[in-house]
Amino acid sequence: MKNSSKASGAAKLLYRRFNTLLIANRGEIACRVIRTARAMGLRTVAGYSEADRDALHVGMADSAVLLGPARARDSYLNIDRILEAAQKTGAEAVHPGYGFLSENADFARRCAEAGIVFVGPTAEMMEAMGSKSGSKLLMEKAGVPLVPGYHGEAQDDATLSKAAEKAGFPVLVKASAGGGGRGMRVVRSAGELAAAVVSAKREALAAFGDDRMLIEKYVDNPRHIEVQIVGDSHGNLVSLFERECTLQRRHQKVIEEAPSPTLDAKQREAVCEAARKAAGAVNYVGAGTIEFVSNGKDFFFIEMNTRLQVEHPVTELIAGVDLVEWQLRVAFGEKLPLEQDQIKLNGHAMEARLYAENPNKNFMPSVGRLRTWRTPEAVDGLRIDAGYGDGGSVSPNYDAMLAKVIAWAPTRDLAISRLARGLNETDIRGVVTNIPFLTALITHPDVRVNAIDTGFIERELAKLTPEQPALTALELGAAVAAILQSESEAAATDAHSPWRSSGWTAVGSRQRKFVFRGGAGEQSVTLLYGRRPSVLLLDGKRIPFASATSPRGGIDLVLDGVNHHVTGLLDGHEVYVRTQNGRFEVHWVDPFGTEDEEQTGGDRVVAPLPGTVVALLVEAGAKVDKGAPILTLEVMKMEQTLRAPFAGVVKSLKCKVGDIVQEGVELAEIEPAKT
Ligand code: ADP
Ligand code: ADP
Ligand code: MG
Repeated sequence: MKNSSKASGAAKLLYRRFNTLLIANRGEIACRVIRTARAMGLRTVAGYSEADRDALHVGMADSAVLLGPARARDSYLNIDRILEAAQKTGAEAVHPGYGFLSENADFARRCAEAGIVFVGPTAEMMEAMGSKSGSKLLMEKAGVPLVPGYHGEAQDDATLSKAAEKAGFPVLVKASAGGGGRGMRVVRSAGELAAAVVSAKREALAAFGDDRMLIEKYVDNPRHIEVQIVGDSHGNLVSLFERECTLQRRHQKVIEEAPSPTLDAKQREAVCEAARKAAGAVNYVGAGTIEFVSNGKDFFFIEMNTRLQVEHPVTELIAGVDLVEWQLRVAFGEKLPLEQDQIKLNGHAMEARLYAENPNKNFMPSVGRLRTWRTPEAVDGLRIDAGYGDGGSVSPNYDAMLAKVIAWAPTRDLAISRLARGLNETDIRGVVTNIPFLTALITHPDVRVNAIDTGFIERELAKLTPEQPALTALELGAAVAAILQSESEAAATDAHSPWRSSGWTAVGSRQRKFVFRGGAGEQSVTLLYGRRPSVLLLDGKRIPFASATSPRGGIDLVLDGVNHHVTGLLDGHEVYVRTQNGRFEVHWVDPFGTEDEEQTGGDRVVAPLPGTVVALLVEAGAKVDKGAPILTLEVMKMEQTLRAPFAGVVKSLKCKVGDIVQEGVELAEIEPAKT
């Protein structure tokens, strides 16, 4: 497709050959961009914040510049500091990645003014497409199908409520400047509208500094289908097929695949053509994505993302192109490497977003130092795009995405199996991850047959986040072996350890009881030893037991004459066990330890992580039931509601809206109801 030459002529001036590229981002996307830039012979410069001194992207780049303090607005969002860093290092171009400044027209303009190539569209294109309202006006004119709704300037209550009535409930109230699923509320009836607008505006103002809202008809149980496009400054524009990103939670993508298993060839061509028309309307230059919601038959434009997308690898794998290379070539002022009819679809690819979060605790982000980082080799169609490695740490200041596990195969079915294996071979310790949840999701029978919609995860949540089952003899044996192994390692380095003499006996008898506490309550097992083989005594059964450090890593465990290869790690009092039955985490209740047990704040209202108080939901003196919402905290960009741990009376609220609170701080005091 050819763009009209007028606008692209102006764009041409902005794009030229460069040798040094600064990456204004962090995590996996910074690493991803550096990899390709280096392969193209460019010198790379990493910008980083104080929290990211030891981050992977910093070590990968040829040089690195400190941008500022941990807070994004002082570093990764600080335009002045980024331009200074470019000047200081002789960087002639900036790649913004995704998130942060990637869709900030002001940043693109400031780069151009400073004579720096911005790897992306021009500021004008971004302004035209960056706002959801503005782009919908343009698409309307270009004849691209839209979700019915309101995307005008006026923002008063009367206008919004009239628009909602006209679209017909349910509607979606959406921040025009929004991204990442934030500033968005589903409203099912007129009575709920005002409150939803207030809370969406609050979130949008905090996140995007802009609280303008648009109203859309809420398409029930839709699919999310989007098209990758790339344009150059010579007026060429191509589409690289579509991705289906229907598996979402809270409007955020979790699993993405390409091509969409929902579309046939005719529908595929139709949606790609609509996307080319959409991008052609602004003579788009660079990589971009046109997003649609679909009822499986028709599709409606929702927004354009004027940047590289998180899920771009699935497109790369089916189209056989490197999109970062294409972005850089376009930024050099070159023509696109391929024409539309040279772009061929091959096989199927699927990606899972690996997060440091706890799906069993409402997806609460998990921060801390990474102690184990093991990912499978990139063979047999697997690809791992990671932003972290062993010894790295996850900071509460940024998005908690650790890596993406991506699988390609000739068919969708095989791609799913490969992705499952890739996830299964990924081991990350130190923070809680969503790996078990991702595995449950992609192996769900409905996902296999593509019987999904955007509400699927929410509906199936209980099944996808099962409580940890009771441990079998195998897991208990592995846990015991992990403890023994850790003790013998400690004994080897400590001459005074009581564990040194192998026949150490607990309270006079040659047996030792182990108590574990986990999702399924307390379980105990007794080890009878001194003779060979030792015996595990479990529920009155005697199970012959032996364990040794395995030469291939992990533990060789012989239970009842069967040899098992397992993983067992002791970290303080937490035991991590992995067997053929899955992954388990249990707490070892040490009979001799002086453990101060319930320090976890389980019966108090405390900040689970550093965050900002965004709303108080009760007043002091209020009577509350167990589980009643007390206040809302924004933690790592997600709102978390803290609830009453038991029924009682709110004695005092120890914070106010806007307070920035540290982890572990008590935010409200509840006096238990007398029973
Ligand atoms: P994609 O379709 O590429 O996943 P998202 O809208 O989910 O796009 O955003 C991509 C990433 O950028 C996510 O990690 C999201 O949290 C982050 N992000 C999106 N918008 C912003 C923003 N305005 N500021 C900072 N980060 C953002
Ligand atoms: P963001 O900028 O946060 O990515 P989008 O407008 O792309 O915002 O919407 C994010 C997600 O919300 C979509 O992928 C889709 O699942 C859902 N969504 C958006 N608009 C609608 C709609 N009109 N009806 C139903 N679901 C929608
Ligand atoms: Mg979107």
